[in-house]
Amino acid sequence: MKRDINTAKKNNYDLIIIGGGFYGVMIAYESACRGLKTLLLERNDFGAATSFNSLRIVHGGLRYLQTLDIHRFKESVGERKWFLENFPNLTKPISCLMPLYNKGLQRNSIMWAALNLNDILSLNRNKSVPSQNSLLNGKVISAEKVKEIFPSVDTKELKGGAIWNDGSIDDSQIVLLEILKAASENGCTPLNYVEVKNIITEQNQVKGVVAVDKETNEEIEFKSSMVVNSTGPWSRNLAKEFHKDFKDLFKYSIAWNALFDIDALSDHALAITPPKDNAKAYFLRPWKGKLFAGTVHEELENVKDIPMPSDNSINSFIADLNLSIPNLNLSRDHILKIFTGILPVKKEGTDQLAVREVIIDHSEHDGPKGLYSLSGVKLTTSRLVAEKVVNKIFGKKINEKREIKFPVKPEREYGIFDFNWDSNKDTNGWQDILKSKIENEEVVHLQDLILRRTSIGNNPITAINQSPAICKLFNWDEEQTKYEINDLKDYYRKRGLSKALEN
Ligand SMILES: Cc1cc2nc3c(=O)[nH]c(=O)nc-3n(C[C@H](O)[C@H](O)[C@H](O)COP(=O)(O)OP(=O)(O)OC[C@H]3O[C@@H](n4cnc5c(N)ncnc54)[C@H](O)[C@@H]3O)c2cc1C
Repeated sequence: MKRDINTAKKNNYDLIIIGGGFYGVMIAYESACRGLKTLLLERNDFGAATSFNSLRIVHGGLRYLQTLDIHRFKESVGERKWFLENFPNLTKPISCLMPLYNKGLQRNSIMWAALNLNDILSLNRNKSVPSQNSLLNGKVISAEKVKEIFPSVDTKELKGGAIWNDGSIDDSQIVLLEILKAASENGCTPLNYVEVKNIITEQNQVKGVVAVDKETNEEIEFKSSMVVNSTGPWSRNLAKEFHKDFKDLFKYSIAWNALFDIDALSDHALAITPPKDNAKAYFLRPWKGKLFAGTVHEELENVKDIPMPSDNSINSFIADLNLSIPNLNLSRDHILKIFTGILPVKKEGTDQLAVREVIIDHSEHDGPKGLYSLSGVKLTTSRLVAEKVVNKIFGKKINEKREIKFPVKPEREYGIFDFNWDSNKDTNGWQDILKSKIENEEVVHLQDLILRRTSIGNNPITAINQSPAICKLFNWDEEQTKYEINDLKDYYRKRGLSKALEN
């Protein structure tokens, strides 16, 4: 992958993709599988927005059984299988435990029936998945067994527990990059730090886009008669700029999780409902040995670059966790990072998430021919939605699909290091791995390398401490080095890194 803007300016593409989150990257991949030539333009770094902030679960459909949405259930199971099959070293099974207190639907008998239905409807879930990634059947276990798995569980009136298995994509940023690299080896030109400002049309037909190289401020035109606006939370603003507002494309809400600097409470992910009226369930998952918890959903009026939750909201989330788990004693000083993003909801001013993707062909609404806009709801189903988008845009003119496979490598070669990695103690050639990424993966800034080409940024403390050693791999002078390190610190501060931990 090279950030070669000059060559891109001269080419004519089958499709220009705006946005390099999971959805844009999957469209690039699906287009590559059809032999199409695409240009992907991302105004920041690839995968830096919503896609960086997920809880990193590839969901099957257990929760969709509640509403008997079998279509969505099957889609999710199929896409979870796609990740477990294609990224055997980057997607792993994760067991989930819900302690049961015989409240509402959370009863042994009801959960037993739901888990059985889940297993029956997903009978094919392990077909062609490597055996180490097979997902076992769910089960209901005794209260005693729950205590073994989750020692700090609230035991008052505990009746048992429900266990099911899902997929975990712990380093989703690396998976996104692997998919983008595969696309780029097969016809996609991805360019980061290029912001699209407008589309170019002639007689109501799209001819390309006008964009700005954010590193030089140069305005550039790129050519294609097909453009897809896959900018997630920003898709509605762009649709409005290019043609008109589509309210249904994206109604905003905040969703966020917090990573705490305490050991994970169990090797299972835990579905916990605080013991109070109208409480919503939280998911407390182990991640890199630490407690990663959420997801909190809140109303939001308008799109924002860093949609941080209010102090009140953070405090009440921590209070809920302390209420649910005896002796947890969690405080804000434990926060390593808040992972926050914007998700689409069904109705403005609520926190009820949308259930389906929206794909708009603007020409069907008196807009320019060749312009499409899209919003999706889960990274789990982003590949399937991308396939639908490519089919909708190119219809019967499309080439037959050729599967593009991904190289399977040891974790370290992907750029995955220990959570507490220390460059001084690592004598195993870490410099070569990072240098190769700097040269071949469009690394422009320190953050790109630390947060999204490797796992070093998963731990803010490690990232900050190791950044001077890492900066030596770049050809930066003292001033640039200082700027890059301060920018990284600023990134974490803006996302909740506790002062107590930073010191
Ligand atoms: C807290 C949270 C937890 C979640 N947990 C899960 C989970 O466990 N499992 C799951 O499956 N899903 C989860 N999701 C949902 C999932 O993360 C999203 O559905 C997915 O990442 C959306 O991807 P996207 O490509 O649409 O958006 P984004 O990742 O936001 O990508 C859009 C991109 O467009 C770029 N862009 C915007 N304007 C322009 C422009 N003018 N020019 C060029 N580029 C532009 C942006 O910079 C951005 O990178 C979670 C989401 C959140 C917020």
